[in-house]
Amino acid sequence: MRELFTRKDINDVIEVHQMKFHDAHCHIPNKSFLKDFDIDESITKWTKMGMEFVVGVSTKLTECQKIVELSKKYYEIIPSFGIHPWGCKKPLTEEIKTKIRTLVEDNPISVIGEIGLDRHFIKKVEYYPIQEEYFRFFLELSVEYKRPVNIHLKGAEEEVSNILTDYDIPSHNTNIHWFSGPNQILDEFIERDYFFSINPSILSGSPHITVLQKASMNRILTESDGNVKYTIDDARIIGSPAIIPKTIDKIAEIKNESKEVISVQLQTNLRRYLNLN
Ligand SMILES: [Zn+2]
Repeated sequence: MRELFTRKDINDVIEVHQMKFHDAHCHIPNKSFLKDFDIDESITKWTKMGMEFVVGVSTKLTECQKIVELSKKYYEIIPSFGIHPWGCKKPLTEEIKTKIRTLVEDNPISVIGEIGLDRHFIKKVEYYPIQEEYFRFFLELSVEYKRPVNIHLKGAEEEVSNILTDYDIPSHNTNIHWFSGPNQILDEFIERDYFFSINPSILSGSPHITVLQKASMNRILTESDGNVKYTIDDARIIGSPAIIPKTIDKIAEIKNESKEVISVQLQTNLRRYLNLN
């Protein structure tokens, strides 16, 4: 499996673009991601390509701890703390709550995610109230510590939309990950001025492109959702920050703007999302 298209593509990115980019949703602390990528080598390569920041999202407690370790080593990694809805099968314990709260408190530049609800891949309805319990706990943390959130909502777009109205999280701190739900909810989120992270599936005709077409450029972030695999031009490509420059090319094409202008806007957007400006 190749990480990018060809060796030449990587060189082109380094030599021609010389633009900054970010990855707002990458599963860096995931065991299989760390197996696929030598993190020392990869961080060096990605930063050479122009990567400024990568948000390393966690899906369970052990990953939350791992991402702190990695973010201490690499300035480019922003830690993100969450328990993925797929893993919400047992009620939340006080012990888990305390551990997560401490991590959030100790890391002022951090994100809360990947969190949310899933009614598409998870069919067992008995898990739904448990997912909601976790989701609400993390949303409370976001309000309390003023941390941005990174939200998964596959098949649960309307429920998530309703739950979010119960919490006073600023729109610029709310990022909707890989939205592919009903247009009506998309319009509602655009109206609320949320961020949307756009991923490489737009390179292969995914309906996710609707989000890019409808949302304003100042509400777009980019994400690889690494190490998710994409099929692009008949090749299987593994998601990582290395695929973001190609994604930016497509964003520039859809938005009818130069890559350089898009790149600068995206970096401004990420800073706004992370409360860095
Ligand atoms: Zn993800």
